[in-house]
This record gives sequence, C-alpha cells and structure tokens, in this order.
Amino acid sequence: MTVWTCATCAIEHPDTAAPPARCEICSDERQYVPADGQHWTTRDELAAAGMRVVVTELEPGLHAVDTMPELGIGQRGLLLQTPKGNLLWEPPGFLDSDGVAAVRALGGVAAISASHPHLTGSSIQWSHAFGNAPVYVSQDDQQWIRRPDPAIRLWHGTLELLDGLAMVQCGGHFAGSSVLHWARGAAGRGALLTGDTLAIGADRKSVNAMRSYVNNIPLPKRAIERILDTVSPLAFDRIYGAFGIIDSDAHAISVRSLGRYMAWLDGTLPD
Ligand SMILES: [Zn+2]
Ligand SMILES: [Zn+2]
Repeated sequence: MTVWTCATCAIEHPDTAAPPARCEICSDERQYVPADGQHWTTRDELAAAGMRVVVTELEPGLHAVDTMPELGIGQRGLLLQTPKGNLLWEPPGFLDSDGVAAVRALGGVAAISASHPHLTGSSIQWSHAFGNAPVYVSQDDQQWIRRPDPAIRLWHGTLELLDGLAMVQCGGHFAGSSVLHWARGAAGRGALLTGDTLAIGADRKSVNAMRSYVNNIPLPKRAIERILDTVSPLAFDRIYGAFGIIDSDAHAISVRSLGRYMAWLDGTLPD
C-alpha cells in the first residue's frame, strides 16, 4: 500500500492501493485544482526526484524544517524546542531519514500541530517517525482530516502544549484556524506562529486574514473582530507566518492592520 500525497497541497492521504479520486482540500473553494487536473505523488517518488529535508536555525529554540526543492504551496515546517520536548509545527509534506536524524539531533518531536488543515503536510508520517507523537487538530476542522490516525487528538479553544506554548483558536480562514503563542520567543518578547490564520503582507508591515487567499474570498467583520480580540491580549513582538516573518513590532502591526481591514469593510476609509 502507498501513502498518497496531493502534489498541489502536499497533504498526505490514507495508504491505499490506488490514489483517491480527488483531493477534498484542493477541491474546496479555499484552494484549487491545477488546470491540468489532480496529481498525486509518493514519498519514494519525491525522494527519487531529489527531494530532501533541510533544517536551519531561525532563532535560538526555533528551526525551519524545509524541503528542497519546494513542495506543494511551498510551506515550511517549524521546530520549536522546549524543556519538555519539541513541537513540530506545520510539517512539510515529505520526510527522509536525514531530515528525521537532523530533527532527532535537536531533541526529536513530542507533539505536532498546525494552524489549519492546509498546512498539515505529512503530519502522520512525521508522528510515526517519532514514536506516534500526538497530532493536535482543532475539533472544528475535523471534517478536513485526510488521514485518520490514532495519534490525532482533537482540541478546542485554547490548548497549553509542552512548556510555554499555547495553541489559541481564532477562526477565520477555517473554523479551527489557530495561532501558536511562544512566550519565550523573540528573546522573551514573545512570538506568534500564525500559518494562514494571519498572513504576512509583502511589505512585512501588515497582516491579513482571508477565507481564501488564492481565490480572493474575504472574511466578514465579525471574523476579523474575533481574530483581533483573540490575539490582542497575547504578548508578542514577532510573527512567523506560513511564508515570512515580521521581525519586530508585530503586535502593533496586527492591531493596526486588522483595524484597517474593518474600516474598509465599514466603508469609513476613502476609496
Ligand atoms: Zn490537495
Ligand atoms: Zn490556508
């Protein structure tokens, strides 16, 4: 049997003789199926094509777990080290023995989570490589689980993890969309790992939240308000998004950007 990985979103699917008829994640209005149709790949096929995992330090206690070349939408995983074990956030859709060894040398993986279903990659394969480490999935996104497994733990609201980490559900992009608060990050000023719950603007001076980023579907004011109300009480100065970093002043930038978003929705800004 083969674990099938969607070539577009890099999300693993159950091990079956033949690939699924379609990827429900990519068929949803928030994602897309390429013009030339649905494609599937496998770990063996990716390895044979030269894919490998690369681990690099971003700041003390935090490493990027990337694939080279890029896979799926090009997301990167993040490994957060804590005194009670490490969290693997948004694992890539591929792993190899060198990548597993590199992560093991940094203390291994005690828990796995993601901001939302799009960035779950090969969570279950990574879990199995690290003693079936628990994979935390918001119960509100349960319907999007593509590869059911006993390692999956459902959660809701706020979840304290390991030592000094907290998952905080914000909703918006997905009902279960969440951020991870790392109180000791950014030299003690606090960091948020946001995935697509808060996306970083190309100017690195703004954040955004959308139902669909690729198909340009916005969110209603109540959703933006809820995200703002949820992240405002958290102490953080830095954001690691799915595709970039706001190095400092991220709390003020978030408050300002989400306030601007609501002002546009209200029509109180000049057009
Ligand atoms: Zn897909
Ligand atoms: Zn997404």
